[in-house]
Amino acid sequence: MTLILDGKAVAERLRGRLAARIATLAFTPGLVVLRVGEDPASGVYVHNKDKAALAAGFASRTRHLPAETTEAELLAEIAALNADREVDGILVQLPLPVHIRAEAAIAAVDPAKDVDGFHPLNAGRLASGLSGITPEGVRGLVPCTPRGAMHLLAEAKAQLRGARAVVVGRSQIVGRPMAQLLLGADCTVTIAHSRTRDLAGECRRADILIAAVGRPEMIRGDWVREGAVVIDVGINRMPDGKLVGDVAYAEALPRAAAITPVPGGVGPMTIACLLENTLEAALARRA
Ligand code: NDP
Repeated sequence: MTLILDGKAVAERLRGRLAARIATLAFTPGLVVLRVGEDPASGVYVHNKDKAALAAGFASRTRHLPAETTEAELLAEIAALNADREVDGILVQLPLPVHIRAEAAIAAVDPAKDVDGFHPLNAGRLASGLSGITPEGVRGLVPCTPRGAMHLLAEAKAQLRGARAVVVGRSQIVGRPMAQLLLGADCTVTIAHSRTRDLAGECRRADILIAAVGRPEMIRGDWVREGAVVIDVGINRMPDGKLVGDVAYAEALPRAAAITPVPGGVGPMTIACLLENTLEAALARRA
């Protein structure tokens, strides 16, 4: 029987654990989301973040700046939040308007408040093995979506030590940090991308297959090894409005030992892991 990994349920349990921990604290961890302009998908995401954060007991607010905000103005906002003692986590919502360099905004966030885990210092710590997720616990601020995928691998009781993991996609926000987390968990990791020769063959070798591409159902069922654990990060909206992943779910389902659906798999984990990072940042800043 294939285990279908219910990200909604896992995320809810995680948020419950965070709320219980926050209830024991003498302070309220604070999260600020900086949003610039009117990207509609960001609007929904930011609203959901606020809702989940408040429900779990965080102080959460969104600072919504107009689309014509200059890069210098945004950097000044970030500097003010860096200096604000009540703020534990700062998230700059992407995408930013084209006249603002995302890398400048990300680099301006205090690494200790970088709850997205995108700051070059935090990315470097992860790449150097100074942060990561092990059975002994989590060290450092690591990007939320790969962090959520690691929770789902734990839920699947996937044997990571020595396993062959293939990550399809090498973006800074998903593929690369995902590969680093798996490497830190003692997997033998292959990172595949658009120039990979024989992608199907690479995928077929995977005990752990992570798809983070952004191409609907590109990974076919016969690319999935019997008994593999499949984590589908992809979220693709089809012309009929339906959401599908990067994996052909119906084909892969009978072959996989465990698989995430889309929607309802990795997606719900991201916000829960943002809150997890925020609590960690808050505790580390006060330690
Ligand atoms: P990017 O577009 O930044 O990266 C996509 C990666 O896929 C690139 O490394 C690219 O390779 C690779 N790729 C593209 N085409 C192919 C191909 N034909 N064969 C092999 N590799 C290919 O996307 P993201 O990493 O930001 O997102 C990936 C998916 O995850 C998207 O569907 C996105 O919506 C979803 N997502 C979901 C989140 C969530 O669940 N909360 C959060 C973030 C993303 P190359 O580098 O060579 O161009």
